[in-house]
Amino acid sequence: MVMEPVSRSMKIPFHKVHTGDEEINAVTEVIKNGWLTMGPKTFAFERAFSDYTGARNSIAVNSCTAALHLSLVAAGVCAGDEVIIPAMTFVATAEVLAYIGAIPVLCDVKKSDVTIDPDKIISCITPRTKAVIPVHYGGSVCDMDSIFHIAQKHNLTIIEDAAHALPSYYKNRMVGTIGHYTCFSFYATKTLSTGEGGMITTDDDYAAERIRILRLHGISREAWNRYAEGGQWAYDVLETGYKYNMTDTQAALGSVQLQKQDKLCEKRENIAAKYDYVFHASSYFLPYKVPDYVRSAHHLYILRLAEDSGLDRDMFINELRNAGIGTSVHYIPLYRFTAFSGYNLSPADFPVSEWIFKRSLSLPIFPDMTDDEIEYVAATAVQTAEKLSGSRI
Ligand SMILES: *Cc1c(COP(=O)(O)O)cnc(C)c1O
Repeated sequence: MVMEPVSRSMKIPFHKVHTGDEEINAVTEVIKNGWLTMGPKTFAFERAFSDYTGARNSIAVNSCTAALHLSLVAAGVCAGDEVIIPAMTFVATAEVLAYIGAIPVLCDVKKSDVTIDPDKIISCITPRTKAVIPVHYGGSVCDMDSIFHIAQKHNLTIIEDAAHALPSYYKNRMVGTIGHYTCFSFYATKTLSTGEGGMITTDDDYAAERIRILRLHGISREAWNRYAEGGQWAYDVLETGYKYNMTDTQAALGSVQLQKQDKLCEKRENIAAKYDYVFHASSYFLPYKVPDYVRSAHHLYILRLAEDSGLDRDMFINELRNAGIGTSVHYIPLYRFTAFSGYNLSPADFPVSEWIFKRSLSLPIFPDMTDDEIEYVAATAVQTAEKLSGSRI
């Protein structure tokens, strides 16, 4: 990429959803045929998701938060149990633990790719630990072999938060086929979007069936039919469940988006490569590095300001905003939130998370970015670094 002085000005949002006529037609068809809530389109989306990921069971729900909650219930995690999660994640990973009265135990992350640090998981384990929720940050994949090794030794369930990881691969295995449960998000900004939505994949047929029932009020029609002659109105409630089902409108959108995942991922990969080319050559920035055994979904592009650059992250973000570029920060570590103050957590206990938080920002990496836009973001970031560091002298 040739670095020209930036004379033009653009407006580039942090994210723009990729949708086309196929999505519009698919949703229109659902509205015309009149079955709006969970039905044939949802079941077809689940089958397509299993085909795509290679997962044995896929269960569609209305969010990744719901997916995480149902996975914990299916795994038998109860009130008072401890669950290990990374400090650097979206609050949903932790809040689902509060739903069931379980205790979040925050663990520091690896500097290289912001995924949970297996060495630090070990020191978080107590006799009350029941599960670990590795978060595949930004599309990288956690060190799953090490996590499995620890989990087997301590009899822990692995529930993967794969909100960023469609499609990501770990040692040529697709995320969705690795842990006991894997939870995906189809929120508006995620790589596959249905506005709101989520999916659970699992190898465990019994758990899958229970999750299918729990996602819709605990209702089972088959259970009723086994014992009595009921009409079409008849059903049993096997246990108190939740209102977590997907709708056919969402699923129709999701099925179309699923077919485009490889193509969209390639586009993000291309954007990341262009950014890398510019930023790796600059001493102002420190690369975020995905391990060699990972093929990333490139959900996020993380820019980190070098320690000795003296650059202030918040000022950097303001400058980019003034240049019309939308950015974000992933994440404010959980221990910094008021809601977690009761756990007496200190930033000093999470030195890597603190280090990352203070110098990271996320740049736009949506599939429909034009070459001009990519170049503008890269050039503006470099010029902003030069400008801000120059103004210090
Ligand atoms: C987006 C996100 C979630 C929550 O997903 P929803 O579908 O909005 O419930 C959970 N974990 C992580 C890491 C996320 O980024």
